[in-house]
Amino acid sequence: IERKLLQKMTTHKAHCLILPYPAQGHINPMLQFSKRLQSKSVKITIATTKSFLKTMQELSTLVSIEAISDGYDDGGHEQAGSFVTYITRFKEVGSDTLSHLIETLTTRGCPVNCIIYDPFLPWAVEVAKKYGLACAAFFTQSCAVDNIYYYVHKGVIKLPPTEVDEQVLVPGLLTIEKSDVPTFVSNPESAKILEMLVDQFSNLENVDWVLINSFYELEKEIIDWMSKLYPIKTIGPTIPSIYLDKRLPNDKEYGLSVFKPMTNECLNWLNHQPISSVVYVSFGSYAKLEPDQMEELAWGLRNSNKNFLWVVRSNEESKLPKNYLEELKLASENKGLVVSWCPQLQILEHKSIGCFLTHCGWNSTLEAISLGVPMVAMPQWSDQPTNAKLVEDVWEIGVRAKQDDKGIVRREVIEECIRLVMEEEKGKMIKENAKKWKELARNAVDEGGSSDRNIEEFVSKLMTIS
Ligand code: UDP
Repeated sequence: IERKLLQKMTTHKAHCLILPYPAQGHINPMLQFSKRLQSKSVKITIATTKSFLKTMQELSTLVSIEAISDGYDDGGHEQAGSFVTYITRFKEVGSDTLSHLIETLTTRGCPVNCIIYDPFLPWAVEVAKKYGLACAAFFTQSCAVDNIYYYVHKGVIKLPPTEVDEQVLVPGLLTIEKSDVPTFVSNPESAKILEMLVDQFSNLENVDWVLINSFYELEKEIIDWMSKLYPIKTIGPTIPSIYLDKRLPNDKEYGLSVFKPMTNECLNWLNHQPISSVVYVSFGSYAKLEPDQMEELAWGLRNSNKNFLWVVRSNEESKLPKNYLEELKLASENKGLVVSWCPQLQILEHKSIGCFLTHCGWNSTLEAISLGVPMVAMPQWSDQPTNAKLVEDVWEIGVRAKQDDKGIVRREVIEECIRLVMEEEKGKMIKENAKKWKELARNAVDEGGSSDRNIEEFVSKLMTIS
């Protein structure tokens, strides 16, 4: 492997500097995309913050990683206290340290040709322009969600939001109600965060490409519409190739992980469960459940009488009902396993998984689609309600567990949704659709597929400018 990597290093024709927003759900797709580019002879350097690097449990050996500063070298987000404070300071400090890195790489004989940045950090465009570099924005959310933020940017969705009416209907979505738009749009208290999200479009007319982690067949109408505005290229799903077409060498690793997966515990347990019998439950790297919600979920899972593998991050564990874990361990039929983090793709790929109860983060949604796993959607915030809408009503690969008027999904509803997906007639249709979308996702990234062609085109343009 080392020899192969060395060979690649010597044949690189272009060099991309990747600037992800430092969060698990943002870095994962950009790292996977980087690995794809690297397999096509593009040299990759990932620039991430010192504070984020410190939290890494797993570091990729496949790409170079360099540290820059966000102004909070000791504690990142947590030190900043709020998203708005963090991102404002990152903007002030980030440009200088990114510029410094570009100069250092040039001095080392590795000049950069292109910056691929997360649009949460739109100031990267100015840095690219200062050095005459090509520049690509990389959106880590669905095209539908990007489109909604675009509507806010253009004033089509007026703020503070009152009603979301038909005029803001997103192409390709059936009807969009207030409960379906990203929470930062529907909740006036998030106005400051929304401003930052809308800022993603502030520099977009100056970029050479807009890359989106989605695939054409999945969001056709929206992509067609947005392509009239920006040079869009869908390049997803950015799943390690081993799960799709088994082409790239040594591509199973996640690469950059904040949490340590309990791989052996999960796989040993799953290996003893019957085919398609297990509900996999995860709310991603960030969402925090209200204690009441945690309680309802805990009993909903137990009452469903299904086997379940539930990821409860250690900072959420204290919200579990008293003695829940102990009782679970003592239960003779060994129905449930609770872990603090798992290798999600390996879990979704496992034959014992029957459905995925998910918060509908965009990566989790794409991963479930790519591996053909039907979903029970329990969106919490941010873009998740829109993704849940797509899952339930557009792609028909899951059901959404509805909240009551206090904003809690009750245990009976959870139980009912799990049964619906795993046992009922409607569940059969959902599973068939999930299989269909899995096929389409694979085709998109396979040789000659829509995303593969876009990546090829992107790489050949890169080669001509470098
Ligand atoms: N993930 C994981 N193990 C877990 C839970 C999540 O590896 O136990 C990964 C998952 O595969 C996905 C990412 O963490 O790539 C979560 O991203 P997503 O966009 O779904 O949610 P976010 O964390 O941004 O809310």
